[in-house]
Amino acid sequence: MVHPEDYDKIQASIDDQIADTGNQHNMDYVVYRIIRKDGTVRWVDDYGHFATLPGYGEVYYVFIGDITDTRLAAEEKERAEGLALALEAAEQANVAKIAFLSNMSHEIRTPITAILGMNEMIQREAEAPGILEYSENIRKAGVSLLGIISDILDFSKIETGRMELQNEDYSLSSVLVDLYNLVRFRTEAKGLDLEFSIDPSLPRILFGDEIKVKQIISNLLTNAAKYTEKGRVVFEMKLEEKLSDSVRIAVSVTDTGIGIRKEDMERLFEPFDRLDPKKTRSIEGSGLGLAITRQLLSLMGSDLKVESKYEEGSKFFFILTQKAAVEKPIGPIDIDRLAHENPDSSRKHALFTAPGMKLLVEDDTPMNLQVIAGLLKRTRMHIDVAVSGEECIKKFGADH
Ligand code: ADP
Repeated sequence: MVHPEDYDKIQASIDDQIADTGNQHNMDYVVYRIIRKDGTVRWVDDYGHFATLPGYGEVYYVFIGDITDTRLAAEEKERAEGLALALEAAEQANVAKIAFLSNMSHEIRTPITAILGMNEMIQREAEAPGILEYSENIRKAGVSLLGIISDILDFSKIETGRMELQNEDYSLSSVLVDLYNLVRFRTEAKGLDLEFSIDPSLPRILFGDEIKVKQIISNLLTNAAKYTEKGRVVFEMKLEEKLSDSVRIAVSVTDTGIGIRKEDMERLFEPFDRLDPKKTRSIEGSGLGLAITRQLLSLMGSDLKVESKYEEGSKFFFILTQKAAVEKPIGPIDIDRLAHENPDSSRKHALFTAPGMKLLVEDDTPMNLQVIAGLLKRTRMHIDVAVSGEECIKKFGADH
């Protein structure tokens, strides 16, 4: 039986053939479906043809062939080609998106750095408390914006495979002090307990990418502090296993915060995705931190794991494998005492003066030159500036 949807097509073809009386010896070709007795559908092609047969006179006869297999193969090929095209278009769109994010964040970083630099000069020179308060707010907003922009840059670097590890020797205690200093302002402001539990048998000097290790742990510590209103944040580093020249360290950050719903767990690492909007709307964030953290860990051959109870708290943990550059153990650590002995180095102002010294600074953004010259004013050095490499070489040459 002819497939009902194809009746009209066949009828039209026969009508054409009958109407075309002047040309009745042309072949008529039509493709349609038939339904077999067992209900299966087959594709056929059908050649219709008028002819005069001796003894029969004018007849119209048809050849019908089953073309189902070739037809399905062609359809499958077309579908696969369509999919490949769609995939390519999606990949191109993704590359364009990442390139846009990367260029945009790079462009935005330059003026923010200038704003923060200018603001630092206001903080150093202004005395009126009102102005200093405005200026402190500019600093906080600027630093937070810079954090978001850096996250976007990192994310685009990871997505395009341009993120690489820079391994070198580093001191574990100096990393711990930096992390402690970074997070304690947040926890102190919220009245949270901050506990660092560090295994004394960990090696004193490790070999690995210190900046990225710090970035991973500080993302987790900052989140713990951000998403906890009461209770505590505990950071733990435990020697899990000692291998011939490296160590496996179990690292964890535990909080007593808002927790994560079971059904939200899968979305936790989605870039730009933030969970539980009712609770997190007023907390700053871009939804990129965990996506970056997980990718950085994967660069180091590790994986980020989470355990959480909604409204009770969360634990983020992973295994960090680093070479032991100096095996001597770090020993018992009193992190609070250490942190007070080594205040955050980035907050130190220039403590030296060098009157007589000449300094030539080159940057293609004139405002940055103004900032650098302003920030170094206290050193009483003679500062000269150049806005291009060419000008720099010229000025350097003239002086030497
Ligand atoms: P951000 O904090 O910038 O929004 P993240 O990628 O670091 O981005 O985190 C994604 C989301 O996961 C957060 O918006 C928050 O909803 C949830 N989240 C992350 N860490 C915690 C935590 N310690 N406790 C509860 N929720 C968390």
